[in-house]
Amino acid sequence: MIPANHFDFIVIGGGVMGASTAYHLAARGFKKVLLLEKDEFFGQGATGRCAGGVRYQFSTEINIRLSMESLPMLERFEEEIGQAIDYRKCGYLFILSNKKDAATFKRNVALQNKVGVKTEWLSGDELRRRLPMMRLDDILAGAFNPQDGLVDPNGVVMGYISAAQRLGTIALTNTPVVSIQVKDNRVTGVSTPSGDYFAPVVVDATGPWAGVTSQMAGVQLPITPLRRQWLTTSPLPEIPDDFPFVLDFAQSLYFHREGPGLLTGMSNPNETPGFDQNIDPDWELVHMEAAIARLPLLEKAGLASKLAGLYEMTPDAHPIFGKTPVEGFFVVAGFSGHGFMHGPIAGKLMAEIILDGHASTLDVSMLDLARFAEGRLIYEYNVV
Ligand SMILES: Cc1cc2nc3c(=O)[nH]c(=O)nc-3n(C[C@H](O)[C@H](O)[C@H](O)COP(=O)(O)OP(=O)(O)OC[C@H]3O[C@@H](n4cnc5c(N)ncnc54)[C@H](O)[C@@H]3O)c2cc1C
Repeated sequence: MIPANHFDFIVIGGGVMGASTAYHLAARGFKKVLLLEKDEFFGQGATGRCAGGVRYQFSTEINIRLSMESLPMLERFEEEIGQAIDYRKCGYLFILSNKKDAATFKRNVALQNKVGVKTEWLSGDELRRRLPMMRLDDILAGAFNPQDGLVDPNGVVMGYISAAQRLGTIALTNTPVVSIQVKDNRVTGVSTPSGDYFAPVVVDATGPWAGVTSQMAGVQLPITPLRRQWLTTSPLPEIPDDFPFVLDFAQSLYFHREGPGLLTGMSNPNETPGFDQNIDPDWELVHMEAAIARLPLLEKAGLASKLAGLYEMTPDAHPIFGKTPVEGFFVVAGFSGHGFMHGPIAGKLMAEIILDGHASTLDVSMLDLARFAEGRLIYEYNVV
């Protein structure tokens, strides 16, 4: 008889990565999966604070291919997982105001087209025609993919957790992992305030906190938490239903429809790394000034809500998948501010890495932890 606190797998972190990993392990027939979340509810970390954007438009082939696997999984989500997630294909439109970005994006669009993603290249005049409500005099060109869009993050997390629970997974909230046990360089389990749990495999899926969590097992991860914030407005009937997810790349400033109003965010390039998730009021003013300059009708909008959350940055803005120097201790983290959309495939690949020794759906071996020590970094340009 196996004791109740013994599992085959322990997954730490109930955001999109942990939920997807737990589900994909359970879907491979394993009933003894334990998912542990420190907060009162699942999906209140980076996943619950994200802008919900999903896109094919990246600058590296591996990120494009992660999207090519993950976004179709989101399209099939309701059918396969049994939860509606409101996939809205509004398209992502990157608008480019300087020659360097225009040249780089043109190369990126060519790469996307080569691997089978139909991103379109648009002239400045075409953009001014399409978006008459925006001030785009300085825009040189843009990149648009009509398959990009928006998905409900809470639906994805809860869909995976409910499906995993139906397959036997135990998923606990209010259960922070406070230490990780390692014996003879092998992970054996974790401790929480409500008791100890044992498993030969433990996965760190704690997003912006992943560096702190892995440190409990003696593993160093180069993951830096970085605050990002956005706000939503009162209804703006002037914004058409087909308004795309617009990203002013040089300013890291974005807008998309959210209910009857707009969601807009802007990344502070001078943000100090740390775990502060309070709104920075000074940056909010900088953001609103830039947003109104781009979209003047925002001047008459009221504030509906605002939120700050944490990106989980790695030095090359690519995630870390797989093994660590401690046997049985795995990591899936560091998605650098664009991980929600890659959550579905990331969990599937983690189940393959853990159970089969390698990922067969997509080769992500170049995204291992060892690449930082070995100098094999792969830089992503399209970070917002
Ligand atoms: C403002 C903002 C906008 C974003 N917009 C987008 C976007 O449009 N599209 C996109 O794809 N991505 C976006 N992202 C990035 C995306 O949110 C993340 O890449 C993704 O959600 C990371 O998922 P995760 O599961 O790794 O982390 P999280 O969702 O943070 O999950 C980690 C979980 O681990 C838990 N945890 C931490 N420590 C412990 C512990 N010791 N014990 C137990 N549990 C623990 C946390 O409470 C948390 O719930 C955005 C992020 C932010 C902050």
